[in-house]
Amino acid sequence: MALKGLDIFKLTPKTNCKDCGIPTCMAFAMKVAQGAVGIDKCPHMSPESLKILGEATEPPMKSIRIGAGDAGYSLGGETVLFRHEKTFVSKCLYGVRIHSDDADTLIPELSKIDYERIGERMFVEIINVEYAGNKDAYLETVKKALAAGRTLVLDVKDPDTARAALELAKDNKPVLNAADESNYQAMSELAVKYGAALGVSGKTLDSLHDTIAAIEGLGNKNLIIDVSAGGIDGGALSIKDAFARAVQIRRASLKDEDRSFGYPSLVNAAKLAPKNHELQTALASLFTVKYGSIIILESMTYSQALPLYGLRQNLYTDPQKPMKVEPGLYPINGADENAVCATTVDFALTYFIVSGEMERSGVPVNLLISDAGGYSVLTAWAAGKLSALSISRFIKENNIEGKIKNRSLVIPGKVAVLKGELEENLPGWKIIVAPNEAVGVVKFLKELKA
Ligand code: SF4
Repeated sequence: MALKGLDIFKLTPKTNCKDCGIPTCMAFAMKVAQGAVGIDKCPHMSPESLKILGEATEPPMKSIRIGAGDAGYSLGGETVLFRHEKTFVSKCLYGVRIHSDDADTLIPELSKIDYERIGERMFVEIINVEYAGNKDAYLETVKKALAAGRTLVLDVKDPDTARAALELAKDNKPVLNAADESNYQAMSELAVKYGAALGVSGKTLDSLHDTIAAIEGLGNKNLIIDVSAGGIDGGALSIKDAFARAVQIRRASLKDEDRSFGYPSLVNAAKLAPKNHELQTALASLFTVKYGSIIILESMTYSQALPLYGLRQNLYTDPQKPMKVEPGLYPINGADENAVCATTVDFALTYFIVSGEMERSGVPVNLLISDAGGYSVLTAWAAGKLSALSISRFIKENNIEGKIKNRSLVIPGKVAVLKGELEENLPGWKIIVAPNEAVGVVKFLKELKA
């Protein structure tokens, strides 16, 4: 049961020393109760208080890390069921399932999906290496997957093969997706020994819960719940049952504070809808929303990646914070003081689309981004955040005239109406109106330069 602010306050030293960066112990207690700060921020808490508070203020869903170095990811740590309530914190990861007989085809395909959207790299983060009964072939496949530089999910229940695969992949900090009612002790021991997160499945929700509680009893809380496995003979569940399981587990974790279900989840869409890539993509979008932390498919083509990564990026942004870039001067294509200036809004999607088209043109441009509230061009203009005054004020306050000799300023076509007022506000500047859509920027800049 979560403690209230007053309960937490009673356990603080009540000295108001401010060492936690908060003015009073009462204010600190309130923030801890809201989950805004951890109790470890107070260096003066007694061991007894820490013990009581540690468990009571622990978030309902644990956060775990998989992968190593640059390819390391946090999973879980969610606090809400719906993104509009607050925000989702650990974006889901997409993976491709490989076998020994298709690894040579599928692994090179992965590198084709690697692009940037609104400042975020979109690529396949996970390779799920599935065991098909041949230990040597499996280990060779693991080696190939490791060479691809992705985080691995080792989908193997054979203990000898799992041990050998973990020996190969231990520096990768993989997921060993292997534990169920029948083998959890041996698999947990292996996962702990090699620093891997352990994937757990169960035939029923009850047996899954009992297995997780038993693994926790062994001291292992580095777990991921496979919500798609556990059907007849330990195979895949039906789509309906996997979805129900994903939702029930997350609700039990966040609403009922059931700590044993408070782990990230894995969904193997490749097993839920074998050989049906369209359905797998639809399932991946479903489980992106509810509540897959790792989602495995048989393939990831551009036609699958574009909607999935776009959906994920939209979902894992904080709805309370506009997606903005910092106001400033952004030289593009090696622009120097003689390059033409252009301006647009600070809405991240607009910035990255416009700057991307400018880069494609190859024309040096000094892109000026003023604070437009994180809105798109027309919305910012309608809200009074993008105006002749705001642009000219930005140019003056940031001493753009002292940094740039060129006196041509390109403005977005949709706010052509600002041209006259800008010419009045910025004497000596030539105001040029760009096309309405970013798609016309390349041709426009090339013609401007000619
Ligand atoms: S550091 Fe601890 S004792 Fe000091 S004000 Fe913060 S909560 Fe109170």
